Amino acid sequence: MFQIQNYINGKLVDPAGNTCIDNYNPSIGAVYSRTPDSDERDIEAAVEAATRAFPYWSTKPAQERARYLLRISDLIEGNLDRLAQAESVDNGKPVSLARSVDIPRAAGNFRFFATAIQHFASEAHAMEDTAINYTLRPPIGVVGCISPWNLPLYLFTWKIAPALAAGNCVVGKPSEITPMTAYLLSELCIEAGLPDGVLNIVHGLGQKTGSAISTHPGIPVISFTGGTRTGATIAATAAPLFKKLSLELGGKNPNIVFADCRYEEMLQTSLLSSFSNQGEICLCGSRIFIERSLYETFRNDFVEQTKQLTVGDPLSETSRLGAVVSKPHMDKILSYIELAREEGGTILCGGRQVQVEGRCRDGWFVAPTVIEGLSHTCRTNQEEIFGPVVTLIPFDTEEEVVAYANSTPYGLAASLWTENLTRAHRMAGRLQSGIIWINCWMLRDLRTPFGGMKQSGVGREGGLEALRFFTEPKNVCIKM
Ligand code: NDP
Repeated sequence: MFQIQNYINGKLVDPAGNTCIDNYNPSIGAVYSRTPDSDERDIEAAVEAATRAFPYWSTKPAQERARYLLRISDLIEGNLDRLAQAESVDNGKPVSLARSVDIPRAAGNFRFFATAIQHFASEAHAMEDTAINYTLRPPIGVVGCISPWNLPLYLFTWKIAPALAAGNCVVGKPSEITPMTAYLLSELCIEAGLPDGVLNIVHGLGQKTGSAISTHPGIPVISFTGGTRTGATIAATAAPLFKKLSLELGGKNPNIVFADCRYEEMLQTSLLSSFSNQGEICLCGSRIFIERSLYETFRNDFVEQTKQLTVGDPLSETSRLGAVVSKPHMDKILSYIELAREEGGTILCGGRQVQVEGRCRDGWFVAPTVIEGLSHTCRTNQEEIFGPVVTLIPFDTEEEVVAYANSTPYGLAASLWTENLTRAHRMAGRLQSGIIWINCWMLRDLRTPFGGMKQSGVGREGGLEALRFFTEPKNVCIKM
């Protein structure tokens, strides 16, 4: 069985404890590889390697660091099919999605930050003829990057690329549920000639390997993407150590549809924002609010088109939804559907596990599910399900829908469909979300701030926000 290895100090190595964790292919419900069960000894070795590499890497001119990152980007693109296949097998997502979104975006992350760092400038503040201040922004040191299983390579590289571009060295931990493409990335970094210790990838469990990163005194910065509860644990650990933290956490995003929207475009995009990646994207719109005059038309069309989405073998080009990531995650999604029934909801379609024929007969598949008849305050509409499950709720006024949308503890992303420009601007100001999409969804410009309000996170990633996060501002004041 294939054995994944850690990438420490430029070498592929087994974990110190020589123990491993089973890695599942969710579409067949069986173990297909083994992942290192790393512990604090492996993190210690990674921190030592990164600390040794830091003086060399951080003083290289930005153009030279960028050259390595561009080489890695090219290698990811050159291995597109292999990486897309690996991501699909590891995570359960349709291979077509991995090929068109996840892997190109991973390459794009390296390319974007390789060039961004060469345009990164800092401020100067002149005090007339008294003094001049200028701000230095040196890299900080060894940074910890911890990422989730839903967009494995895409989100891992979204952290690693700006950290390295800014001149830091990295100790990264991908989710142990989807470690494969991070492992393949380490092979590509070796091929790209990335200097030893600059990037270290240590695989293992969150509670053991992840927590060894958040408690390590030699890692002063942590960039984390994952669940809100894990974010709270990391924040509690890191606060007394005064670590710099970026937390990208869960969401329960509203998708708000006004009757004056461009209907067909809204309908097709809403299918994507509901069910892409089996609904396992933090940005998916899981609560759809529809203006009452359009409600019945929307419900009938949306349910009819949802029923036509093919759930099947992720390696088949015709599957629109693949497997969900694990058996415990499938059970969690199904338990929320049960809860929706108990709370008085009507299941309009889906609402069950799907039995796929052939090689995927033991896989973990859930039918895309549409539910109506629930209050915006019930648990189904307040808690993150993170699966192919959406609820429909009618509304009458703008006031009312803003209150519904803002009623959860989360505040990551919101979509709004209307042709009324004044209303769009007004609502963009009132919705409590870090990201607002008007007449679109997942339209991403990597220069823009990315992140959430309330319990969806602290800090922002993307563009200058990321480069500022991974550097330490230092003001120098010179008296004239
Ligand atoms: P988790 O919070 O369970 O895990 C995220 C990462 O943290 C994993 O690598 C995990 O390892 C690790 N981890 C777990 N416990 C600890 C710990 N005590 N200390 C350090 N690291 C730890 O999230 P999921 O992987 O389940 O991802 C789904 C969640 O991520 C959803 O809530 C989703 O909304 C959110 N998300 C947010 C995004 C955003 O940009 N805001 C984007 C994508 C997802 P292990 O896998 O071994 O548990």
